[in-house]
Amino acid sequence: MSQIRNIVILTGAGISAESGIDTFRGGGGLWEQHRVEDVATPEAFARDPNLVHRFYDMRRAAIQERLPNAAHFALAELDAQWRGDLLIVTQNVDDLHERGGASRVLHMHGEHLKAWCTSCDIRSPWRGPLVNRPPCPVCQARTLRPDVVWFGEMPYQMERIYGALRQADLFVSIGTSGAVYPAAGFVQSARDLGMQTLELNLERSQGSHWFHETRLGPASEVVPAWVAEMLGG
Ligand SMILES: [Zn+2]
Repeated sequence: MSQIRNIVILTGAGISAESGIDTFRGGGGLWEQHRVEDVATPEAFARDPNLVHRFYDMRRAAIQERLPNAAHFALAELDAQWRGDLLIVTQNVDDLHERGGASRVLHMHGEHLKAWCTSCDIRSPWRGPLVNRPPCPVCQARTLRPDVVWFGEMPYQMERIYGALRQADLFVSIGTSGAVYPAAGFVQSARDLGMQTLELNLERSQGSHWFHETRLGPASEVVPAWVAEMLGG
């Protein structure tokens, strides 16, 4: 991979799983007898905001108890040392990439540690609960919602992601199912654009056949090994 200059990395649940973060997403995950797909929607929030707030308050508290793992630290080292363009696009709403030390991170599905005010449209850092309807730090309206992209909502910053893909020489997918669009389409776009594609995953995914190469194993092992290779270790 000596000709590689610009890299786009997509990360998913598989990289945070070893830090003890369960996404519930897909796989028929249940929370208090509710399907998560029935909690993580704009319709659910309109119908029963307390239920939705309690779910996200619990998740927001839980991620603050978790720690980045070797895969997050390895990507942070790559971010720090890589001289070309690099963008870590994550589907994860935790902050483990940032706590691992990475800075070139884009959260396409939002972040647990932010609250979005639907009155003034400003996103504020947030660590506590929202179920008690605290006022927006900016406009004081009690209209904060989790800054997380729900089922049926558009992921964030798609133009920036595709802009980075157009400049990239290598697309790497880490710990994603390859099944959820639009992220699942990134590898297809990457192939169309003629770049190298690599999948690092615990097991073969539904999208594996799109990649030039798939390396299987726990993220905490395969990611540091790949980073060492990229940095000429
Ligand atoms: Zn506001």
